Amino acid sequence: MGYSTTAESPRPTVNATPTLPLERSRRRMVREQIEARGIRDPRVLAAMAAVPRHLFVDEGLAARSYHDCALPIGAGQTISQPFMVARMSELLQLKGNERVLEIGTGCGYQTAILAMLCQRVYSVERIRSLHDRARNTLRQCRLLNRITLLCGDGLMGWEKYAPFDAIVVTAGGMASPAWMEQLNPGGVLLMPEGEHGSHQLVKRVKTPLGVEETRLDFCSFVPLLSGVQDL
Ligand code: SAH
Repeated sequence: MGYSTTAESPRPTVNATPTLPLERSRRRMVREQIEARGIRDPRVLAAMAAVPRHLFVDEGLAARSYHDCALPIGAGQTISQPFMVARMSELLQLKGNERVLEIGTGCGYQTAILAMLCQRVYSVERIRSLHDRARNTLRQCRLLNRITLLCGDGLMGWEKYAPFDAIVVTAGGMASPAWMEQLNPGGVLLMPEGEHGSHQLVKRVKTPLGVEETRLDFCSFVPLLSGVQDL
């Protein structure tokens, strides 16, 4: 499957070791879990087909990495279900020239998908072991040249690189005021909002007249927490 390129920003290619059964599983995942449930953006479909999701989980879980579910990634955290990654990526309506802030790198899988869709991804993770492992996996995928990672508290956003065109939060909780402040005019904040594991995807667009809010899918994410954990 092909995807479009722009002159300014060549699309990255991912260096996946040829593991054929897993590639077949990945194509099936895109067809049966992503396309069949209404994801249409060809760039999102191409990114989901290209990024080797099995490299982002422990080897023992690789065979399940294309299943229709979230999986543990250590430190009590999870890699999100493939459909949710695709859904959130499509809702951002990325064209290729955006700078995107992700809160919650986790294993780096969503980071990798975003890196295929925009100009640069800035991603913050509060748990050091996950941050370190995500860096290695993203390097292995040859995507680190379009990603900047930080081990820190994403509730503060990332002032140094603000403003962003989009901010995507991959842990559930309440919005931090810093995020809206760090968006460009027209920028989008997408997050699972709510308390105690019961969340709803909320999309907020920063307009000159105020914030436009759309409430979307009900979902359940790991919690958004404050502070850095040196695990
Ligand atoms: N996108 C990730 C999802 C990981 S789960 C993936 O595909 O793997 C959400 C992650 O958010 C967890 O790793 C958790 O540690 C992290 N997180 C929670 N609160 C955070 C905060 N305040 N700042 C940064 N990361 C946070």
